[in-house]
Amino acid sequence: MFCAGCKDVFRRLHWDNNGCKSTVWRCISRIEPRGIKCRARTLREEVLEKACFSAFSELLRTCQRQRSRIRTSVLINSRT
Ligand SMILES: [Zn+2]
Repeated sequence: MFCAGCKDVFRRLHWDNNGCKSTVWRCISRIEPRGIKCRARTLREEVLEKACFSAFSELLRTCQRQRSRIRTSVLINSRT
């Protein structure tokens, strides 16, 4: 996953904030000094998982619709 701000990659991190543990993804420019002041927000993993699942589901629906259109087009053209 790449950062829209600085084009660097995101890294998965385990946070422990006073015993409240969580897994987050953060632009590597904000973790390691690289001379860039990236302002990308830290993403909680569960939010990222939901967004990825939603995107893949939409992609699957689009592929299924396209496949159905192609199949219909082939059937129509094979009859003419
Ligand atoms: Zn960044």
